[in-house]
Amino acid sequence: MHLAAVAAHKEVPFYQPQGRECEIFEAAFRRRLPVLLKGPTGCGKTRFVAHMAAKLNLPLDTIACHDDLAAADLTGRYLIKNDETVWSDGPLTRAVRRGGICYLDEVVEARKDVTVVLHPLTDDRRILPLDRTGETLHAPDDFMLVISYNPGYQSVLKTLKPSTRQRFVAISFDYPNAEAETEIVARESGLAAGACAQLVRLAGRLRALKGQDLEEGASTRLLVACASLMADGMKRDEAIEATLIEPLTDDFDVRAGLRDLAQVTL
Ligand code: ADP
Repeated sequence: MHLAAVAAHKEVPFYQPQGRECEIFEAAFRRRLPVLLKGPTGCGKTRFVAHMAAKLNLPLDTIACHDDLAAADLTGRYLIKNDETVWSDGPLTRAVRRGGICYLDEVVEARKDVTVVLHPLTDDRRILPLDRTGETLHAPDDFMLVISYNPGYQSVLKTLKPSTRQRFVAISFDYPNAEAETEIVARESGLAAGACAQLVRLAGRLRALKGQDLEEGASTRLLVACASLMADGMKRDEAIEATLIEPLTDDFDVRAGLRDLAQVTL
């Protein structure tokens, strides 16, 4: 098949909206505004960006930020190749040259110098100065910067400064409501809706323990994993142990408590 035809037929990944996030995102794209997605891990932020990129027919670069990620990892660096020094674009630079969506997942994890390169890209200049090559790139109209972070478990040191966050249109995400989450889990896993509804009910109970026994409740991602294992033939209790208990805590007593909670809920 011709490449253009492949692009035109690119499937839009399934995304169940929680509110008006699709409309807000599209409006931000039209007005060339960057977007910040806030919310707990595994609640659909990455899927949302993939869905919107496909819907708007834009290429998407996703960069998972970590505490060693520095500005040069995004912009690029000189590399030695066959005794020659050649410049190699980083993923952000590539996206600014080409257009499309550049998504920085968990941006607060990255080193502080990352925000310095983001600032001129996120105001009306929309530029990326590359100090090392002396170039200043102007972002094309279809370039969009999207960042995400989880306000839930960041320390005071790892939060976005107002000078950064106030450059973005921000959208809050949370776990979907029970009905929507049941549909998502059933669709993603292939497990019957009735069984998925029970898992969603258990997740609700687990999420209520956040801040007491658990640092974070069970994510939609974990529910999908649990339902997928069950759809694959695994016994319910074993699947729950492997996806909704073990990943949540290392504490022996808390795990025993979660098991009890699962027994009385299901
Ligand atoms: P995040 O980026 O917030 O950590 P993800 O986007 O990776 O989370 O979501 C984890 C998984 O949960 C997805 O792969 C998908 O299966 C499912 N999911 C969560 N929310 C939705 C939603 N609203 N629509 C469709 N799938 C969802």
